[in-house]
Amino acid sequence: MAAPVQLTDVRKVYGTGPSAVTALDGVSYDFAEGSFTAVMGPSGSGKSTLLHCAAGLDAPSAGEVHLAGTALRGLDETALTKLRREHVAFVFQAFNLMPALTVRQNVVLPLTLAGRTPDQEWTAEVIRRVGLAERTGHRPGELSGGQQQRVAIARALASRAAITFADEPTGALDTHTAAEVLALLRDQVRAVGQTVVMVTHDPVAASYADTVVFLVDGRIVSELLSPTASSVAAELAALSRLKVTR
Ligand code: ADP
Ligand code: MG
Repeated sequence: MAAPVQLTDVRKVYGTGPSAVTALDGVSYDFAEGSFTAVMGPSGSGKSTLLHCAAGLDAPSAGEVHLAGTALRGLDETALTKLRREHVAFVFQAFNLMPALTVRQNVVLPLTLAGRTPDQEWTAEVIRRVGLAERTGHRPGELSGGQQQRVAIARALASRAAITFADEPTGALDTHTAAEVLALLRDQVRAVGQTVVMVTHDPVAASYADTVVFLVDGRIVSELLSPTASSVAAELAALSRLKVTR
């Protein structure tokens, strides 16, 4: 069974000529089914670019990406959108909530767009789990940043997508809510074999994952299995001393 997310020698170069920036410099990695992987690395190391390329939101300059068993190269925007709607959920920093819709409508929107009928009970359950049961009729503009992020997380959980991509999902949350949200993501992996790829700079957040992958200058330089907050922090400290030679 092929991994739901596969990157093979992926390169991404932004711009051309002397101002060109190599954001990914030959990344190969299989994100296995039912795995929860954290992607870490210094600012500018290519974490968001990796996520965008893996999700087909951005096209690599070279290399191959397979998402849910489909090669992304050559797919047009319509085919990519269809593939994402069927298999992928996103929790990104810029929440991407629809301001005119209520919390509940935002949570079920990806399902509605994919032509699926939302499971009322499960929808209520995920909204309750992220602590927004009293807010289902509110609009995003009436919520705090942390509450908006929780709507985005409920939306990802509600869809039961096979693959969730999260970029700093707990960045705007207080410690307690962050812990709840990370536990939800981990439970989702355990319960339904979802595959989660999460960018974070927080060793505590990363410790919820099964594996941490470390990026430096667009390359995967190490991997940590069964991470703890302290083993992650130690690896980050070691990497900050590492001088990557190109
Ligand atoms: P991270 O998420 O680890 O902070 P990014 O993937 O956002 O890193 O960026 C990796 C590198 O690519 C950085 O040097 C960044 O400045 C550059 N970069 C990212 N997006 C663009 C873009 N749209 N145009 C030009 N350069 C970009
Ligand atoms: Mg980033």
